[in-house]
Amino acid sequence: MRKKLVAGNWKMHGGLQANSALLDRIVESLPSLACDVLVCVPFPYLFQVAERLAGSRLALGAQNVSEHAAGAFTGEVSAPMLAELGCSFVIVGHSERRALYGEGDLLVAAKCKAVLAAGMWPVLCVGETLAEREAGETLAVVARQLRAVIDCVGVASFSRMVVAYEPVWAIGTGMTASPVQAEVVHAAIRRQFAELDSVVAEGLRILYGGSVKPQNAMELFAQPNIDGGLIGGAALVADDFLAICHAAN
Ligand code: PEP
Repeated sequence: MRKKLVAGNWKMHGGLQANSALLDRIVESLPSLACDVLVCVPFPYLFQVAERLAGSRLALGAQNVSEHAAGAFTGEVSAPMLAELGCSFVIVGHSERRALYGEGDLLVAAKCKAVLAAGMWPVLCVGETLAEREAGETLAVVARQLRAVIDCVGVASFSRMVVAYEPVWAIGTGMTASPVQAEVVHAAIRRQFAELDSVVAEGLRILYGGSVKPQNAMELFAQPNIDGGLIGGAALVADDFLAICHAAN
């Protein structure tokens, strides 16, 4: 039985005061939550959030990472730096990074490798665009995105990874994949792993992301292959994020 995980992706939002208020609400609610909870915050707030979370079971994550461990890469942040600051997860391959910053499958794979080498868990995002869905390519696109990472890090590494299926057309748009649409892709992802390693496939947590809200979370999380959510907009509103966590209970 896989324990559900609800991960907040704050994207490029936040502020010292607002973060503090949001974290207070989440931390005080943790005892009533059965799921694992993670917040992935912008780099400048990692130190603040790490201090606030110390001693709690709320996990800390980053939203991006360099594929390099150190060196002359101005403006980049390495996986060992994130680990030292208390991160245990890093989002890799978010569709905004793929689309806006040109991150391709090979770079995403290299970043996953760097995260694993630093002892953290990649949250590997995969998902199709609307055009790809309409062309009937959803499962092929997702399989290709996963294969690039499996080829680079090996299937066994996925026992220390999380996969997030995030249809690009559903992110920040208010258009959620229906529970059935999402479950079809989640089941296909698990089958892809099962063909390589049944134990890894059974233990792998596959999150759904894309306009998850308190109103739709319970039905999505009730699907057999949906093991929680990666939450964007609703992760910035304490009541909404906590309601989604409760839906995963
Ligand atoms: C995301 O940022 O990964 C995301 C799923 O955003 P939203 O929940 O706002 O669609």
